[in-house]
Amino acid sequence: MQVTLISYTDNPEQVCVQAGKVCYSPHGIKQIQKHLSKEKDGAFLARIIRMGHLSVIEHASFSFMIEGISRACSHQLVRHRIASFSQKSQRYVDEKQFDYIIPPSIAAHQDAVKTYNQFMEQTMAFYNELVDHGIPKEDARFVLPNATETKIFVSMNGRELLHFFEKRLCQRAQWEIRAAAEQMLDLVKKIAPNMFSTAGPGCVYGSCPEGTLSCGKSNEMRKKYKSAVHKESDS
Ligand SMILES: Cc1cc2nc3c(=O)[nH]c(=O)nc-3n(C[C@H](O)[C@H](O)[C@H](O)COP(=O)(O)OP(=O)(O)OC[C@H]3O[C@@H](n4cnc5c(N)ncnc54)[C@H](O)[C@@H]3O)c2cc1C
Repeated sequence: MQVTLISYTDNPEQVCVQAGKVCYSPHGIKQIQKHLSKEKDGAFLARIIRMGHLSVIEHASFSFMIEGISRACSHQLVRHRIASFSQKSQRYVDEKQFDYIIPPSIAAHQDAVKTYNQFMEQTMAFYNELVDHGIPKEDARFVLPNATETKIFVSMNGRELLHFFEKRLCQRAQWEIRAAAEQMLDLVKKIAPNMFSTAGPGCVYGSCPEGTLSCGKSNEMRKKYKSAVHKESDS
């Protein structure tokens, strides 16, 4: 899987800081801009995010290209409604030589992976036979597996990304969407560290939302995701 950050709002943290300051300042935007201070503004942004004033980070948008994921994973991804998607079409692009994702659990099992690969070859042959019979691609694709590799262009604003990270960085999220979320977080943290200083699975700042289904790794997750900004402010 490869995740690429294609573009993002220019100076995303500064844009959101200005939006936040509009709420708390009697001054107009020119004055607000005049008093922007990179050092203090980062802490201001992190603080209002912690307070839950999250509409402020809706003003920053991030676009990613995600390649080499399964259709099983992309189906989970597109359930996120406050995001925009453009995905490789199986109606327009033929899948005669489709690539497919092998889950690590299958890859690690010699016999299982052999059968899995055989199944994919048979499926490819069947798909090709349907297309060669003149069956439209949009119908021939009915035989394609969830494992079929896809690529998808995804845009989310800061608030939706935080929500997405909360759900999909959870150890109980499926490994593939979790891997995508981890790569996305690494990329946006470099650009907007304060905006994403609270990013992490639900258990990082509260009790595990999975309840009795918990992975039992809340402490490990807190260590992994609780950022320096928050460790300081908690102490
Ligand atoms: C642990 C887990 C298990 C899951 N299991 C299943 C399953 O078994 N079957 C299944 O079908 N799906 C399942 N899902 C997917 C889940 O139901 C959602 O489709 C997915 O999480 C994306 O939706 P969302 O509400 O999280 O956030 P988004 O769609 O990303 O929206 C973000 C937020 O915007 C708000 N919002 C968006 N749309 C609306 C709306 N129409 N009305 C009100 N508020 C809205 C909500 O506050 C929402 O949290 C699972 C998800 C998780 C995390």
